[in-house]
Amino acid sequence: MKNRSSTSEYSLFLLNEQETTCPDELAGFLSDFSLQVGTALDDAGMLDADLILVYAPRAEFGLGALEALRSRPALFAKPVGLVCYTHRDPVGRLADVEILLPAAPEFFRQQLETLCAIARKARTLAEPEETEDEVMAKNLTLLRFLYCRPDSGLGPAVDTRSPVGYSHPLAGLLFQAATPAEMDMLDELEDARLIKAGLVDRIHLCPKCDHYQINFREICPSCRSLNFRDEPAVHHYSCGCVGPERDFTRGTALICPKCSKELRHIGVDYDRPTAQLWCEECGANFLEALVQCYCLACGETFPPEEAVVRLIKSYTLTPEGRTAAEKGTLPSFGLMELLRKEIGLYRPEIFRELYRLETACCKRYPGYRSTMIQFSSNALKEAFAKSGLRWTRELRKELAELFRSSFRTTDILTLLNDDDFAVILTHTGTDRAQAVVDRIDKVVHSLFKVDFDLRFEVQDLSEVEPEPVAASAPRGMR
Ligand SMILES: [Zn+2]
Ligand SMILES: [Zn+2]
Ligand SMILES: [Zn+2]
Repeated sequence: MKNRSSTSEYSLFLLNEQETTCPDELAGFLSDFSLQVGTALDDAGMLDADLILVYAPRAEFGLGALEALRSRPALFAKPVGLVCYTHRDPVGRLADVEILLPAAPEFFRQQLETLCAIARKARTLAEPEETEDEVMAKNLTLLRFLYCRPDSGLGPAVDTRSPVGYSHPLAGLLFQAATPAEMDMLDELEDARLIKAGLVDRIHLCPKCDHYQINFREICPSCRSLNFRDEPAVHHYSCGCVGPERDFTRGTALICPKCSKELRHIGVDYDRPTAQLWCEECGANFLEALVQCYCLACGETFPPEEAVVRLIKSYTLTPEGRTAAEKGTLPSFGLMELLRKEIGLYRPEIFRELYRLETACCKRYPGYRSTMIQFSSNALKEAFAKSGLRWTRELRKELAELFRSSFRTTDILTLLNDDDFAVILTHTGTDRAQAVVDRIDKVVHSLFKVDFDLRFEVQDLSEVEPEPVAASAPRGMR
């Protein structure tokens, strides 16, 4: 009873399949809420409500309603309870709570309090930033969903209809993506370090069709037949004959099939080799069978080491993800931040010291040249926003590859801020630096197929004063 007073501040929308009135069996529990009852999923009252209850005496109605609710970005993060007579959430956790009728009053109130706790967190969030980018908006919605449910992460559900044996039902509905596409979207949020993953399972997939239905089976190592049997082996010392026990058995005696002598004493006349597997096709005798994979989806056979391993993960928010949820805006997906994982970057303070040393070298040794390039990806970001392009893993890989091939291991790279980076090309004059710039510019254009100007600044380090550091440090480093 202690929590009843707190529920009165929340508005509750009750979705009822047929009636616009509250069923009697619920009325007693909902009297404290500002209550609205509706029959339609697109009821405007649902958007305004702090919490939603789906009353589903008919189980199919409940499941359909939950899927519809979680498919709509505006409703996705709302606390939703399912009130039903039979347990009905097979793909897992579409509802925040499930109340089975008839319910004990204390249980009913506890479940409502769970929903109120989610609503309470939701009220602390700032209005989300307007964005044209639908995927970005959905990403933010997902972060806010997790923010309001700090105790429950986003977990996968076992799903035998999915090609990878699992799915992320909530993410699948939000992103309107079929497995494993929704997992790829989650991986991207993980790459951006907004969510962090916990490992749930490793699933083996067929290398040809990426399906999980693989039969791991034993075969004869000589002829690859499935047809072999397990039978004790006998080795006759005096003639060297090795065969399955049945070939030696004559009544109760053991007679060698090769030399016809009787085998009397184990350890004296004969022994029993440990290789006890016999191929019915080729007669091979072996200790261990070979394991082969057979894909039940496409019929491909392949050795186990060629199976593709996919990691099945659950997710929780990172501190950066929490901040993004609170502020209602995603951090800028800075180009270099995304590339940080793939190319080596110096920390700015170390870069600053190396910059000082290089400028000093250029002053001290006539003929020694070093160049610094400053690169701004702001133009890139704007081009992305304008064209509706999205960062994809492939694009990122290509960019990382471009940077790797453009710079040598002796070059010194750092990130100045979200969108700018600097690189010192040691032992390099401005001519080669300009050639590097031109190449990057060209490849970036052909990658994005969008016309825009990248901002590059090439600086001859022999022309700058090495001291003091603060004054000579490049823009963005101060
Ligand atoms: Zn064989
Ligand atoms: Zn023999
Ligand atoms: Zn296959």
